[in-house]
Amino acid sequence: MNYNKKTVAGIPLKGKKALVRCDFNVPLDKNGAIADDTRIAAALPTIRYILEQGGAAILCSHLGRPKGGFEPELSLKPVAKRLGEYLGKEVAMAPDCVGPAVSAMASALKPGEAMLLENLRFHKEEEKNDPAFAKELASLADVFVSDAFGTVHRAHASTAGVAAYLPAYCGFLIEAELKAIGGALENPRRPLLAVLGGAKVSDKLAVLDNLIDKADVLLIGGGMAFTFIKAMGGRIGKSLVDEDKIPYIIDMMVKASSKDVEIILPSDVLAASEFSAGAEPVACEADNIPDGMMGLDIGEKTRETFAEEIKRAGTIIWNGPMGVFEFDAFSKGTEAVARAMAECRGVTVIGGGDSVAAVTKLGLAGSMDHISTGGGASLELMEGKELPGIACLLDA
Ligand code: AMP
Repeated sequence: MNYNKKTVAGIPLKGKKALVRCDFNVPLDKNGAIADDTRIAAALPTIRYILEQGGAAILCSHLGRPKGGFEPELSLKPVAKRLGEYLGKEVAMAPDCVGPAVSAMASALKPGEAMLLENLRFHKEEEKNDPAFAKELASLADVFVSDAFGTVHRAHASTAGVAAYLPAYCGFLIEAELKAIGGALENPRRPLLAVLGGAKVSDKLAVLDNLIDKADVLLIGGGMAFTFIKAMGGRIGKSLVDEDKIPYIIDMMVKASSKDVEIILPSDVLAASEFSAGAEPVACEADNIPDGMMGLDIGEKTRETFAEEIKRAGTIIWNGPMGVFEFDAFSKGTEAVARAMAECRGVTVIGGGDSVAAVTKLGLAGSMDHISTGGGASLELMEGKELPGIACLLDA
């Protein structure tokens, strides 16, 4: 996977129209108003740059999960209005994303102006990556700028298909993701430490496979740690386990030791007799959990060990909570990792999903070098997979 892609900053934009795939899939409240406009604000640098360079921006996105036809409550109209407020100029709302009326609007667009196409998923052809639909979208513009990182792992018409018909570049958001995640994987300041957690081993197998070839140290926490502990002969009570992955884990431990990659498992945990917010946390050895109890967080000794390792690392990639952080009593492990990362000197990359939620909740987002905006996409990047929405962009 080549992470080094041509960016919008390298294109002569004067007099050009850019089709910009944004992520305006914002949460809406029960009245249909925008509940959180973080994603709209995040898209502004790329849009402003295009307009300032004398280009015109034809913005597009999906919103929610329409069934394939027009649904007024999933219209992007409120987004156009909010964009207009941010940009200080009107962002014209198109009645659809393709068709003669939209083409006419796009061709009338002047340098420095922006318009927003209607929800791409009002057409089934979008998710099917239909070539005729992609070609029609592409016909609106001279260049394609991809800036919706959250959807680059999907081969849709607007994320990959259009690149067959237009020169394709990344916007500033995707550029930052590729630099941070790609950089950490391909050219990290060493030692490279990966902290992996979350519920199940099976969801992280591909990441483990990729990181075992790249990282120097792997810290394993969360529910997935218990499959490792069981594979090593530990007693895990009724903790989460992927029994059928045990042979795989044993192979991986052997591979790690032959490659001099250190895998550090929890030495102690906080366990409980039931999976609930009110459950009483009981400290115990990670490989000697009483029958009838389940490990729900890493323990105090492990928190210290993990924090020490994080302090020593040159680069830290983190994906997945260390415990059931949604329950206060079992959130200490995740919090300890977040704090250690915020305080460490290494390059810190948070890879999406629950780890991002934890860091944000603790108010530590500003202390990290990179927080990925795409859960699924960042996981697939960490897996070393070729993502269709990245592979289709021009190589730098
Ligand atoms: P994932 O989406 O795979 O990153 O998993 C995140 C989920 O894993 C969170 O909702 C956590 O509550 C859950 N989780 C973390 N540690 C444990 C554990 N020890 N037992 C059960 N669930 C866990």
